[in-house]
Amino acid sequence: SGNIPVIGSFEEMSLKESLLKGIYAYGFEAPSAIQSRAITQVIEGRDVIAQAQSGTGKTATFTIGMLQVVDTSKFETQALVLSTTRELAAQIRSVISALGDYMKIRCHACVGGKSIGEDMRALSRGQHIVSGTPGRVLDMIKRRTLSIRNVKMLVLDEADELLGKGFQDQISEIYQYLPPSTQVVVVSATLPKAVLSLTNKFMSDPVKILVKRDELTLEGINQYYIQVEKEEWKFDTLCDLYDSLTITQAVIFCNTKKKVDWLSESLRKANFTVSSMHGDMQQVERDRVMDEFRLGNSRVLISTDIWARGIDVQQVSLVINYDLPYDKENYVHRIGRSGRFGRKGVAINFVTRNELGDLAEIEDFFSIKIDEMPSDLSDVL
Ligand code: ADP
Ligand code: MG
Repeated sequence: SGNIPVIGSFEEMSLKESLLKGIYAYGFEAPSAIQSRAITQVIEGRDVIAQAQSGTGKTATFTIGMLQVVDTSKFETQALVLSTTRELAAQIRSVISALGDYMKIRCHACVGGKSIGEDMRALSRGQHIVSGTPGRVLDMIKRRTLSIRNVKMLVLDEADELLGKGFQDQISEIYQYLPPSTQVVVVSATLPKAVLSLTNKFMSDPVKILVKRDELTLEGINQYYIQVEKEEWKFDTLCDLYDSLTITQAVIFCNTKKKVDWLSESLRKANFTVSSMHGDMQQVERDRVMDEFRLGNSRVLISTDIWARGIDVQQVSLVINYDLPYDKENYVHRIGRSGRFGRKGVAINFVTRNELGDLAEIEDFFSIKIDEMPSDLSDVL
């Protein structure tokens, strides 16, 4: 991929005036590394595999490319973005709407947990772009509410997860409905070899922008571990840290919904204010927690890997792995909820003696060194 041109400014990308205006109004001044390389490739109609570290602007990469090629005079769906969670699909929709504001773009989030009737009404009004989760999008295609006849571009955000076990069948079913010439853009911070070889099935001669595994962690995120004698002591450790967590905003990851419930209830009983979110909660409640956290009205959020990928809340500067992730890839996604677009972040891993081996595996996997947490937290936060 050494010969991909690097475009140093948005002006030099020959974008529509209305799109350029949207980009500057959104507050962007210059393109990030991935944006400098991938946007023009997307515009040229190439299939693109775009890998870049967390928080480096992958959303705007495919969004700007997509907005440039969408014809807003036609009220038909021309691009489809798929992602892994309802909250992420909604976030992508709002980035598309914001950057496309001066183009009068119509973009709808098509996600599970929302009223089917409302989806049908929104889609029948005509949407240039649909951002959705696989299940609901497939449902709308099958009902013929979402017409895919004019789709020119398919984006898979968090593609390695979309092409993994949980979503794979839905993705290939959706793909089979799309016009054969559909351009495909695959995006993620992590793209294991097995996933890359899967992309052969539905991409032709893609432009590949890849990142080696030992370059995936961000310089700006300091990583530590705290070793506790036994699992139960993680709770006391967290209580001791609570005041520091609330300095800005923090996300705490557990591996199960049950543990999220247990931890958040235990903290509340101990008079700590925390929010929590997982996939078994009602969507209205998930939305409420999300809004509250985005607004900064809640400062500590406890969640599962539902929050590991894609979600962008710039104020998050601390991530705690109360449990280490099962899936090694998700380690960089989780800690990447902090340190967005060059900001500083801190990640703290809670480990028992038994979990030290798992921590070492993560260090090996990404070629990193995770230090023991200094006793004075104020030194690192
Ligand atoms: P990724 O998908 O690569 O993890 P996002 O697309 O969510 O990252 O972007 C991370 C943050 O960086 C967002 O808050 C976004 O608004 C911001 N951002 C993206 N591109 C630029 C840019 N060119 N200039 C300034 N900020 C940007
Ligand atoms: Mg992203």
